[in-house]
Amino acid sequence: MSFRALVVNPWVTDFKLYDEWMHPVGLYFLIAMLKQNGAQVLYVDCLQRPPDALGRANGTGAFPHRPFPKPAIYGTMLRRYKLYGSTESDLCTRLSGIPAPDAVFVGSSMTYWLPGLRETVRVVRSVVPGTPVVIGGTSAQLIPSAVREACPDAFVYGGTLFDQTAIRASNIPYLSSLKSLSACDSLLPALEVLSRAFHGPALSSLGCPLSCSYCASRFLHPGYVPRPAPVVAEELAFLQNRLGVGNFAWYDDALLHNNGEHFLLVARALSRAGVTGAFHTPNGLHVRWATPEVLDGMKSAGFETLRFGYETGGDAFLRDTGGKTSRKGLARAVSAAKQAGFGGASIGVYVMAGLAGQTRDQVEDEMEFVASLSVKTKPVFVSPVPRTPLFERYAAAYPVLRQTPLSHNDSYFITLLPGWDAPAVQQVMDLAKANNASVS
Ligand code: SF4
Repeated sequence: MSFRALVVNPWVTDFKLYDEWMHPVGLYFLIAMLKQNGAQVLYVDCLQRPPDALGRANGTGAFPHRPFPKPAIYGTMLRRYKLYGSTESDLCTRLSGIPAPDAVFVGSSMTYWLPGLRETVRVVRSVVPGTPVVIGGTSAQLIPSAVREACPDAFVYGGTLFDQTAIRASNIPYLSSLKSLSACDSLLPALEVLSRAFHGPALSSLGCPLSCSYCASRFLHPGYVPRPAPVVAEELAFLQNRLGVGNFAWYDDALLHNNGEHFLLVARALSRAGVTGAFHTPNGLHVRWATPEVLDGMKSAGFETLRFGYETGGDAFLRDTGGKTSRKGLARAVSAAKQAGFGGASIGVYVMAGLAGQTRDQVEDEMEFVASLSVKTKPVFVSPVPRTPLFERYAAAYPVLRQTPLSHNDSYFITLLPGWDAPAVQQVMDLAKANNASVS
């Protein structure tokens, strides 16, 4: 089907946002699908950092931002609320400078970023009035009604790009006639539309076989599906050779699935393809699958940043974490990582705060344990994600979670829990900072 599609990665509204290797990988799949179906694709990334933006050697850096009116629900929050991404006039200029599209596809991510999505759609509509706007992505899947309410003139697609039945049944103009993708399809057609990149996305699989109470991975991608190693290697080689990308972030939910069975194949394919970048894992690695062999493979492949998804080793929270690890397991994985040659400063461990019934003392105790391993502590505050067991449990006590997606914001929600307020959150952040300062 021949038509011109404009794909837009929207602005983000939040209290904080940092480009820690962020890529709208779902939109890249969409672009690949549109091109496979014969569409001409134009891409506008509202979060594109300016070419001269300052950043770190590992490719990360701050997004441009501006103040944005704080929604009433955040009235008690002292922090400034911002819109991250390009200016409105820059977006208008870019939209005005491209050929008129037949349809506009806008992505969506965190549920509480809805004001940024609404603002993006408003501006897009003002420049290309009368063109169908289709919203898909994570929020469209998790909270389709709220997205419809926020953007009443847009079509909302609540399915995935891998589900032919849902695509056809959507009856959405242009979308419903497209052939779906498979996880094995290459992202190369999408990467071709990128004109520059501070870093690149790497993805060896979709989904995760575990089911932690706070995670929607199972809902968004039922089951674990590996992607062919040669396809992954070709994508990274393209980014390295065409755009000069030297830093890659892995987007897998379960990169080390089954003791790195698939990952080691991918690492060998990367080596054969001559991919020599620095690799980072902002998504937490599964501690249980971080074997010495896998960690040696990661070190040889060029991994520089390891993040372990520990959350908590407390017995009381085994149901939440699916029993995915323990203090003993984390200590073993950290020791193996150091044996493989990773320094403490390159290893970060996510510690979760805000699980049901979890006290601040318990969180700080976990943080001290992580610090005792001489690695960095990365505190993460719970954001209740719709369609997850933890959301259901919390929604019974905090009805606001069903009333507005803005309440899912991690910075806000934690302050609703007993024992947690802004000073308590700051204390946890300060503890992490103090502990991390001595890690080398
Ligand atoms: S292990 Fe990670 S990706 Fe898998 S369900 Fe748990 S939080 Fe989600």
